[in-house]
Amino acid sequence: MAVAELVKEYSLDEALETLHKNGKVLSKYQNFIGGKWLPPVKGKYFVDHSPINGEPIAEIAKSTPEDVETALDAAHAAKKAWAHTSPAARAALLNKIADVMEENLEILAIAETIDNGKPIRETRNADVPLSIDHFRYFASCIRAEEGALSEIDNDTVAYHFKEPLGVVGQIIPWNFPLLMAAWKLAPAVGAGNCTVIKPASNTPLSLLVLMGLIGDILPPGVLNVITGPGGEIGKALASNSRIAKIAFTGETTTGRLIMQYASEPIIPQTLELGGKSPNIFFADVMDKDDEFFDKALEGFALFAFNKGEVCTCPSRALVQEDIFDKFLERAVARVAKIKVGNPLDPTTMMGAQASHDQLEKILGYIDVGKKEGAKCMTGGKQAHIGPDFEKGYYVQPTVFAGHNKMRIFQEEIFGPVLSVTKFKTLEEAIEIGNDTVYGLGAGVWSPMAPTAIAWVAKSRPAACGRIAITCIRRAQRSAAISSRATDAKPTRSFWSIISRPRTCW
Ligand code: NAD
Repeated sequence: MAVAELVKEYSLDEALETLHKNGKVLSKYQNFIGGKWLPPVKGKYFVDHSPINGEPIAEIAKSTPEDVETALDAAHAAKKAWAHTSPAARAALLNKIADVMEENLEILAIAETIDNGKPIRETRNADVPLSIDHFRYFASCIRAEEGALSEIDNDTVAYHFKEPLGVVGQIIPWNFPLLMAAWKLAPAVGAGNCTVIKPASNTPLSLLVLMGLIGDILPPGVLNVITGPGGEIGKALASNSRIAKIAFTGETTTGRLIMQYASEPIIPQTLELGGKSPNIFFADVMDKDDEFFDKALEGFALFAFNKGEVCTCPSRALVQEDIFDKFLERAVARVAKIKVGNPLDPTTMMGAQASHDQLEKILGYIDVGKKEGAKCMTGGKQAHIGPDFEKGYYVQPTVFAGHNKMRIFQEEIFGPVLSVTKFKTLEEAIEIGNDTVYGLGAGVWSPMAPTAIAWVAKSRPAACGRIAITCIRRAQRSAAISSRATDAKPTRSFWSIISRPRTCW
């Protein structure tokens, strides 16, 4: 069976069998260090399960701090030559990586879907294409970079140029395993750094498959992948004095730990953490039952995109009081149309939560919402999609109506659970929107651009870094994200994050 035909069959066993036969996905993975696969020093492995049906899909190296040191040895051995490789040569290699990914898009998409549980229509059309685009984007950036001069006095100028940091550590979450890896790898490696990267234990597969495809493109030691428990090897990496920087994406609580680890040897950090983003609907969205209103309903339903496992998930909806009931009736009907199903079925809109722990956490929060007295408008239960999937991790898209002080409004659930409340005025929408410990994204919906823009303007200084006006999800590389708690995501200004300026005069 050809790889492209796999998803028509949409059985996990058949998909795995064909991927294994095809030789680009293995059933057992070691660490990728110094350009080759190396067994973990202590010889231990753990089993990676598919959220689709809870079945094992691969054995993965369970590394220990000794493996972190081996990976750092390889990175340090490579750093000088890589830092002296010309930007044009580095860019050519990034472009080559992108080309190989494109040739293998289907394999990467299936690997991501079976490991993370996200629908194949998303991995094919978003996760993998956007990851490819990151390598091309940063290949362009590094070639376009120019230094700057400043005049000190009549006889003296200072010239500034960027140089790589050396060896960096990178820790990836499980919600967009390949895309988050690409976000970190492309700028770091492109800027001339060597890296040791650790995927999340639940979702290591796509990055390992990627290394099988691109492992020989970069010089040995430039890109090293180690797998294993975050609390052990993540800590060993983030606290290691042999890294010049740690980049972390994950939960806010883990981010706090990373700051602590890195504070002892004073390692600079870039942290990308959690969110509880408001999606704000002004009354005039219902002035007409037109295309715009339909778009607003779609924006409402996007809390279920990627099963709600998105940092900028619009997980709170704020609806203006005058339209609250009638808006909610239409919006809930729209949510009920979301097709939850086998992630390998191309018609599935919402797949399986990424792990059993996450399933339990979400069901726990649904229980909290009910006990807090929030009104469950739809969903509110585990989803059962068929006898072959009973051990998979599925949740019904769930909408609660309540008030912003409830825990389900304040805490990041990271699942398909939306908490809806009402507001009277623009000022109140700002107050409620900003009233969480998070601040990452926001969406504002009104056909009257001035209303939406007024929200943006009046909410300054904004508690969140990315505000979408009448569109909630545009993940283009050239749009930065920043938040109350975290650094900006690198766009072209990535140089300030992944390199250090040098001044000479
Ligand atoms: P997590 O914090 O559990 O894990 C993230 C990574 O850290 C994993 O690789 C994990 O193994 C590792 N880790 C865990 N404990 C560690 C420790 N003590 N020391 C070092 N490393 C450790 O996060 P997650 O559950 O994988 O990801 C979901 C979270 O990520 C959500 O909160 C989400 O909002 C956030 N996120 C943020 C962004 C953003 O750009 N702001 C993007 C994606 C995800």
